[in-house]
Amino acid sequence: MIQTYSKADAGKALTEAGIKPSAQRVAIMQYLMASHAHPTVDEIFRALSDEYPTLSRTTVYNTVWLLAESGAVKSISIDRANARFDYTPEPHAHFRCRSCGKIVDVMLGELPKPSAPGLIIDSVNVFYEGLCDECVTKQSKQN
Ligand SMILES: [Zn+2]
Ligand SMILES: [Zn+2]
Repeated sequence: MIQTYSKADAGKALTEAGIKPSAQRVAIMQYLMASHAHPTVDEIFRALSDEYPTLSRTTVYNTVWLLAESGAVKSISIDRANARFDYTPEPHAHFRCRSCGKIVDVMLGELPKPSAPGLIIDSVNVFYEGLCDECVTKQSKQN
């Protein structure tokens, strides 16, 4: 199912998250809502820089982290420098292809939360690794 999101949808999501919807922030949010590729800061910057020539990498970085801290999007990865960003609001795990590095959503009804006395857990990241369908097809053709 391909869902499209307008600038108005993105602006509304920002306002609901308590973030002032500037034109560049709206563009970044709209991109995240439409993308299922879990883009990095760099990928978002490259995708939008033609349309927004005054957009800087720093603005993208600051915006996605503002969005992540407000809960409007999720950051994936414990390592902040390599973080990827994800709008998909339903709870889900991720699958990373060992060969091409692609990250796809794996829908799960409920993500496991361990009982860990003293820890306040407000976010869960579940990662699977293996080979994606495209890489399996490529490999079977080579053999
Ligand atoms: Zn792959
Ligand atoms: Zn995801």
